[in-house]
Amino acid sequence: MAKKAWVDQAECISCGLCVDNLPDVFRFDDSGKAECFDSYAATEDEIQANAIDICPVSCIHWEE
Ligand code: SF4
Repeated sequence: MAKKAWVDQAECISCGLCVDNLPDVFRFDDSGKAECFDSYAATEDEIQANAIDICPVSCIHWEE
């Protein structure tokens, strides 16, 4: 089973980087914070490089 990403919304500052880079994976929910709505729409490497590694507050994580 592939790993699943999730956003710690308490830490998200709504910068939009993850949503811009991977719009099939991340979106803003009604609270204005990012959420991971389809972790399997991109590869783990893509999510790691284009979201997790660049999130300015490091609030995107892999579910164990
Ligand atoms: S990159 Fe991080 S801080 Fe920016 S919107 Fe995504 S989860 Fe939030």
